[in-house]
This record gives sequence, structure tokens and C-alpha cells, in this order.
Amino acid sequence: MKNYDVIIVGCGASGLMAAAQLYRRKKSVLIVDMGNAPARKVAISGGGKCNFTNTKADFTHYFGKNPRFVMSALSQWAPKDTLDWAKSHKIKFIEREPGRYFCKDDAGDVLDALLHDIGKAEIKYNTNVISVEKTDTKFIIHTDSGDFHANSVIVATGGVSYPNLGVSNIGHIIAKQFGHKIEPVRPALCAMKTKVFSSELAGISLPAEIKIGKNKLSGDLLFTHFGIGGPVVYRASLFGSQKMQINFAPDTDVFEFLKSAKRTNGKKTVANTLSEIMPNKLAHFFCDDTRHIADFRDSELKQIADTINQFEINDATAIGFQSAEVTMGGVSTDKISSKTMESKLCKGLYFTGEVMDITGDLGGFNLQWAFSSGFVAGLNA
Ligand SMILES: Cc1cc2nc3c(=O)[nH]c(=O)nc-3n(C[C@H](O)[C@H](O)[C@H](O)COP(=O)(O)OP(=O)(O)OC[C@H]3O[C@@H](n4cnc5c(N)ncnc54)[C@H](O)[C@@H]3O)c2cc1C
Repeated sequence: MKNYDVIIVGCGASGLMAAAQLYRRKKSVLIVDMGNAPARKVAISGGGKCNFTNTKADFTHYFGKNPRFVMSALSQWAPKDTLDWAKSHKIKFIEREPGRYFCKDDAGDVLDALLHDIGKAEIKYNTNVISVEKTDTKFIIHTDSGDFHANSVIVATGGVSYPNLGVSNIGHIIAKQFGHKIEPVRPALCAMKTKVFSSELAGISLPAEIKIGKNKLSGDLLFTHFGIGGPVVYRASLFGSQKMQINFAPDTDVFEFLKSAKRTNGKKTVANTLSEIMPNKLAHFFCDDTRHIADFRDSELKQIADTINQFEINDATAIGFQSAEVTMGGVSTDKISSKTMESKLCKGLYFTGEVMDITGDLGGFNLQWAFSSGFVAGLNA
């Protein structure tokens, strides 16, 4: 039976990045994956355009028990390295928002570049890893297609979100087996359920601001049939199901706006007045009263304005793993070396990417983390 220098469990972004470094270092590498194709999340990332990095990536854009854990890996493979790497592969990319880079053509360009870099590393698809055993001298990877042997193992099995792609919690099971703690998992970077809005609003999108705890987030909000989505809500989901306050007109002091309309255009209804600053249906959701605005007391207008500028929600919860871009929680970084990604409890065992208790904000931070942690593990395994 062939004994590989390194077996990588998971052919996702971080596993491939690790394999590329190992190939460069002339190590024999086997990647095993339960799926039938490489990096399926990369292929669908960023709406098919793969938001592959963000030059703002530093620990403040990461979540987990210890976000500072990312610092060493991000300094060893920084966003600039990702951009240089993309340039070296002639990937055409665009900066859609400051610091946020997407493929100009197709996410497949990133995938092709990753596959190019792994050279002759072997990949076995449709191979489900069931457990990992450590003997005195090596690791034995038990799969539904037989056993494989290696000196080191990199666990790059990702999170449990998007189960339709084929995901598993084997990374957590392996970690636990070797004494690592698992932080509770929950879905994030996803839409949120709430009962407070009528499903008639579904499809409406507008810029909004969400206050959640001490955090103020801004971006587009989309009403859905079950609640709210859009980038600003995706980001809010990172903070869990807490109460939040939404400002549906972040650039307008709605009370001042309504008082001024009452003076200058008093024959209009409140809804018609509000439709100057928001979609008509939403304006009617906030006030369906048919009286002229001139007939409203200021205190009534203040109440309407407060609902728009400070809408309170107490029942918002993440929609679920089915459509969450990431899994928060996972293998605690407590007993993992931030410099090498090696377990401090088991020599030769490494972790990369989303399987760990590190989650990036929306905006290319998760793939950057996959690349940085994969690079570091590939350099050291
Ligand atoms: C719809 C969507 C859009 C996204 N868009 C972006 C974006 O634009 N920018 C960004 O930064 N991030 C984005 N993300 C997040 C990003 O894709 C992930 O954080 C990243 O791919 C994680 O990389 P990884 O290597 O840790 O794991 P993954 O890429 O998830 O790879 C894990 C691999 O392990 C395999 N595996 C699991 N269990 C087993 C087992 N038992 N046996 C064998 N193999 C197994 C899986 O099949 C999978 O191929 C998006 C995610 C989704 C779902």
C-alpha cells in the first residue's frame, strides 16, 4: 500500500491551496473528496463570479472565539498574494467595491488556477472519509473506497452549510477524536426569517442600515416571502438571532421630511409622500391611512418616522444551513498553531479553512481565509 507524505481530506479552496504548496515542495499528495468535482463552493461563489479576496482582510473582519488566530496566516499569504496569484494565472478580475475583488468572467477561472497549481497531486473523488486512525508511525484514512496511508493529514472538510452540495461534519469528528473542542455550529451569511413583514413586500430591495448590538451595518436589504435577505441581512446573520433595529431610510430624517411635506404638500397622503423616498408598496406598509398628511398631528408623523428610521425586530433568525454561505463555529482554534495550522494535540494533523472556528465577513474574507490557512498548512505539513 502506497504511503503518501500528505493526505488532504477535502478538495475545496483550502485543500487545493495546501496541495499546491505540497506539490511545489515535491511531497506526494492525495486529495480525497466525497463529491464528484473539485471546489464546488468556489464554482458557485459570488453568484458565479467568485469574490476571491478582500484587501481589507485583517482579524477585525473575522468571527470566532479568537479572531486574532487569523493574523499569522494572513501575513504569510495576504490578500495581495491572492491578487498576485490571480494575475500570474491571467485571471481577469474587477474591484466591485473598495477592496472587494471578483472574477470578471467566471468563478471557474479561480478553480482552473487552483487545479493547475496542484500539478501531479492525485485526487480521488466520490470517496467519503469515514474516520482517521493514528498509529505510531502514520495515519490511516478509512474511506468507503478503502484505506489510504500518509505521514500527515490535512483536514480541509469545510462547513456543513449548503448540504445539497454534499457536506459532512467528519472534520469535527476527527478533531474531537484527537481531543479538540468543537465550538457550536450555526448558519450565517444568509437570509433571516421574521414574521413582522407582509409577504406582499417580497421582491422589494432598498438600501438600509441595521443596528445589531454595538454594530452598525449598511447595504441593500431585500424582502423575501419568509422575511429579509440581501447583503446587509447576510452580514447581520453573523451576529446570531438577536434583536435588531433597521433604518429603512438611512439618508433621511423621516420626521423632518414628513413635517416639511405637511407644510408644503399637505393634500398628499403619507404613503404618497413616503413613496418619494422608498418603494410605493413599502410606503403603504408603513402607513395606509388615507387622510391628507396635513391632517396628521406631528406626534403621529413622529411615530411613523420612528418606525421607518428605527424599526425594531425581535424574532429574526438565520434561515438555516440550506442556504447559508458559511458555518460559524467548528474546530476550536485553541489547540491549533496559528503559524502552521498543525494540531498541538496530534503531530502531523492539520486543519484549514471553514472547518475551524473562524468565519469571515461577507466580501471575500472566507475564501481569503481558505487560501491563507491552506497555504500555511501546505508549507508545513
Ligand atoms: C453559495 C456560496 C457562495 C459563496 N460565495 C463566497 C464568495 O464570493 N467569497 C468568499 O470569500 N466566500 C464565499 N463563500 C464561502 C466559501 O466558499 C467557503 O468559505 C470556502 O469555500 C471554504 O473552503 P474550505 O476549503 O474550507 O471548504 P470547502 O470549499 O467547503 O471544501 C470542503 C470539501 O470537503 C469535502 N468533504 C466534506 N466531508 C467529506 C468527507 N467525509 N469525505 C471526503 N470529503 C469531504 C467536501 O465535499 C468539499 O469539497 C460562499 C459559499 C457559498 C455556499
